[in-house]
Amino acid sequence: MKKFCLYEDCKIVLGYNRAMIYDFGRNEYYPIPISLAKIINKYNKKQSIDYVVNKYQKEYRKTIKEYFDFLFTKESIFQTETPELYLELSLEYDTYSIINTIILEYSVLIDLKKLESLINSLNVEEIELKISNISDLDIVLSKLNTSKLASIVLVIKYSKQLSKFFFLNLKHKYKKITQIIIYLAPFDKFYYLEEYKITKVSFIKTSLSFFDNLVRPSIFRVNINFFTEALKYNSYYHNKLFIDSSGYIIDSFTKRKRLKNLLEIKDYLRLDKINVLSFINKDNISICKDCEYRYMCVDPRIPKQNKEKKWYSENDCGYNPYIAKWKGQKGWLSTKQ
Ligand code: SF4
Repeated sequence: MKKFCLYEDCKIVLGYNRAMIYDFGRNEYYPIPISLAKIINKYNKKQSIDYVVNKYQKEYRKTIKEYFDFLFTKESIFQTETPELYLELSLEYDTYSIINTIILEYSVLIDLKKLESLINSLNVEEIELKISNISDLDIVLSKLNTSKLASIVLVIKYSKQLSKFFFLNLKHKYKKITQIIIYLAPFDKFYYLEEYKITKVSFIKTSLSFFDNLVRPSIFRVNINFFTEALKYNSYYHNKLFIDSSGYIIDSFTKRKRLKNLLEIKDYLRLDKINVLSFINKDNISICKDCEYRYMCVDPRIPKQNKEKKWYSENDCGYNPYIAKWKGQKGWLSTKQ
């Protein structure tokens, strides 16, 4: 008898009101009811769909069948007689980098040679590169494309030139680009450059700066690296280095400028303070711990501690996991209400 199996690159995250399937293969996600999440968690790889459907009383069977049809449509499950042959994806977070990601506001004051040597010496895997002038793109990307980086996230100021064709050309030239975010756009939307949904292009109406307190669902990240890091650490602050347009390294905890010379970074890394925020992951932060987005959410808000030593964020992020609604949706209430 064939058992049903959730694809190994799909993971279920339970929230308070609903669950979310994170599909790492497709770089996307979709919500499912908690009851379906529980069924999958209980019977995945152990039972056939018929067995599960017949376990429930007659009046529920049609709904459960529809649940499974939906999962087939999404290509999240398959059936097999040998489920034991399909191994689980490792959820161990592993990195050989001292700094995993550099978040940089580019300007002509940034010494690209120094930056490249920093990336190579610290084994930096990713750079989030904020550029306001598109005429600088080629000079910066050609330098970074030859570094040890595995991924470049491009953050560009909106202009009419930024068409899909423009991005396809850019990606063709600089293969390390994995995500493009266009800020100060006249609309909020996102699309993928390729049919296989590898490079996400997001347009956001707001600006984007290091610690601006805004949570933007259009730039959420669904990939196994981000997921495993978020299981263990604060994914916004762990192993990250913030460098402003003057070449100053920014201390994320105090938001004060600390060092000018990029090569003094090793001294900076010895400061214990840099690690304080790293260990406050979403499972430790009030409200976020009940949210199904918590392992994809890019959240720059600096957590605070209350008198009982519990972590919380001062500003509402706009999502209420207790009713599964974003601000602006009908029936939304703030989490304080
Ligand atoms: S509650 Fe808001 S900030 Fe917290 S994980 Fe959910 S979407 Fe992100």
